[in-house]
Amino acid sequence: MLLWDSLVSLRMYSGVAATVTAAIIGILFYYFMNVEWSRKRGLVIDEITGLLQYDQFKGQLRKAIHHRNPLYLTVLNIDEFKSINALNTASARNELLRQIGQRLNNWLPANAAACRFEGMDFILYISDSVPSSASSNRSELWQEMQTLLSAPYVIQHELCHVTVSTGMTRYEGDELTWEELLPRAFTALQHAKINRINETVQYHEKLNDLIRRRTLIEIYLRQAIQENQLSLQYQPQYELQSGSLRGFEALLRWNHPELGDIPPNEFIPIAEKINLILSIGEWVLLQSCLMLQRIAPSPSLLKISVNISGAHLLDEQFPEKVRSILDDTGLAAERLELELQESTLLHSLDHADCQLRKLQDFGIRLVLDDFGSGYSSMQYLRKLSFHMIKIDKSFIHSIGHSPDQEVTGSMLQFIKQLRCGVIAVGLETYEQLIYLKKNECDFAQGYLFSKPLSEAQLPPLIQAV
Ligand code: C2E
Ligand code: MG
Repeated sequence: MLLWDSLVSLRMYSGVAATVTAAIIGILFYYFMNVEWSRKRGLVIDEITGLLQYDQFKGQLRKAIHHRNPLYLTVLNIDEFKSINALNTASARNELLRQIGQRLNNWLPANAAACRFEGMDFILYISDSVPSSASSNRSELWQEMQTLLSAPYVIQHELCHVTVSTGMTRYEGDELTWEELLPRAFTALQHAKINRINETVQYHEKLNDLIRRRTLIEIYLRQAIQENQLSLQYQPQYELQSGSLRGFEALLRWNHPELGDIPPNEFIPIAEKINLILSIGEWVLLQSCLMLQRIAPSPSLLKISVNISGAHLLDEQFPEKVRSILDDTGLAAERLELELQESTLLHSLDHADCQLRKLQDFGIRLVLDDFGSGYSSMQYLRKLSFHMIKIDKSFIHSIGHSPDQEVTGSMLQFIKQLRCGVIAVGLETYEQLIYLKKNECDFAQGYLFSKPLSEAQLPPLIQAV
């Protein structure tokens, strides 16, 4: 009996011991899985984006470079981030970062890695042993990534759009180090961000020269007005059915003593970036109105069209400034046309609406420039009322090339239905002229009639009217 009791208590004791041991193992397992593993994972994986930590990424990339494995190194920057209201809070920004990381993770091909760098910059590399000259499908791959990352995001129940600039450099398996490669990718990114959105640029030696030139332009542009380096040319516009002169478009020119003639498409985006466009634009407006009053005072009805930038629409004072230029020069408001590109309306439609109404109330005419060249949103046409729409020259140049020509024809019909005047830019051939007349385009300007001219060359055109 005594023996039996001892055996029972021994079994009970070993049962308790086993339970305690199992519990300890369970706790240890739980600790390892949830605490230690997350800590270890945290050293490798960035908590917000789910991508590699920067140090891990750098280590992997250095190893690939050490083994001379050819690859692409790419930096991504999320553009226009600051202007997105929905992303004002840190938690909303983190949510965006998380979603971007997720999209990148899902997209990354084999032999590739990505990490978040700083702010809204990401770096990634893709191993690629195919020589760069032979890998034609690479651009499709970058395009795919760009499209994927630019698709709309839902952040805290709000839809938000971001655009992505990409700079990349190719490592061919040569002597370069990580420290040399990364600045190259950033140079390419800097270039990608200069004028456009959703742009991809691949590094090449000349980029450094281009960036140096841009820096010089930034410096020199600040003195251009004071040093009388800016001037205007005027391109005549004609009515197509009657052949009569209707007016001129003012086009800005810059001749710098060292850099020579710098095209407006190069320096105007820089002037916009460094906030010089407001003073330059006011100078252009004043000079254009003065010029028209000098060569064609009232009762002439000839018009002057002036290109304005998005920054003018954001300037609260702009409508009043235009009115005081008209008052000072004595030009009738109906003789001034302001040309706005679609891209300038992209981020400020409501504000633009309010500013443009004020200008229209003064009697100034508004023209939608470069229609069809980029964003072509019906939203502008519904919300804002334009007196005239200018068809981008690429559509005029497509005349004679079917089926693109049919698109131009449909566009003309569409604008007619909006009851707007329509003007074609870039008219160069008789074939284009005949087509435009047949399709009831109202006005045109282009090298077929005349290149942009200096003020001194205009009076004979006016006398011929
Ligand atoms: P835009 O407003 O679309 O001006 C028309 C451009 O087409 C001008 O280029 C003009 O010279 C060119 N053009 C006219 N007819 C023909 C043609 O038959 N064939 C070809 N190939 N081109 C033709 P430009 O003068 O180089 O100006 C380029 C752009 O710079 C302008 O495009 C406008 O967006 C901008 N710009 C020019 N002046 C100003 C300005 O005072 N302020 C602002 N904000 N932008 C300006
Ligand atoms: Mg224009």
